[in-house]
Amino acid sequence: MRVPTTTDVPTSSRPQSKSHADPFAELPTPESFCCNAVLTRHVVPAAHGYAFAVTKGTRFRIIDLKGEQVVDFMAWVHDKPFTRLEKMSTAYTRYHLSGVQPAVGESLWTNADRPLLRVTADTVKVHDMTFMSCFPGLYTKQGLQGHRSCAQNIFEAMQSFGMEDILDIAEPFNIFQNTPNYSLKRLGSSKPGDYIEFEALEDAVCAVSSCPYDLDGFNGGVITDIAVVIAKKK
Ligand SMILES: [Zn+2]
Repeated sequence: MRVPTTTDVPTSSRPQSKSHADPFAELPTPESFCCNAVLTRHVVPAAHGYAFAVTKGTRFRIIDLKGEQVVDFMAWVHDKPFTRLEKMSTAYTRYHLSGVQPAVGESLWTNADRPLLRVTADTVKVHDMTFMSCFPGLYTKQGLQGHRSCAQNIFEAMQSFGMEDILDIAEPFNIFQNTPNYSLKRLGSSKPGDYIEFEALEDAVCAVSSCPYDLDGFNGGVITDIAVVIAKKK
């Protein structure tokens, strides 16, 4: 989820259309981020989730196609069989970073005190590692039964990896969410085509959610598509 800040931009200032003839056409050439790689591109529809596996050494990008869209992100070590016991931990990561903002070259750590994903590029550098994902009850309390949520999106996406209970999700790294450390300082928001790039330091399963929180101007007031581009070495 995203909470209000002094930097929220009026809804009218951003694109309203959700149609994409070619969602990558307006973006910098993804091929540039990893030579000698096979690219897999996946557009995650607005307010929905997606889970994917990456092998050690693989780089991938999470892209905000339209701007100002928060992406909740979680990751697990892909042990065989997949137990989901070792996962990205925001608490361990904050400890290793001495803060809440991973810089390029720093990593997201697991609850077994291992670095799992290294940040290899970041065009925004404004993210959040303090808030939970929005969840069904958050909306129900506001009279919005059935409203999509990041927790539900990631649970649904992770069912293909054996997840059976929504409480099995992890705490999120909220990519492009401009509330780092509860800051009310004026900070930038993501623009169309902005991205963060990771290198997997272990085999991993990752999950993303295009945050459906569309109240009070959050996410720019319009929930939009995001993309995942995976560059697997040839
Ligand atoms: Zn959310």
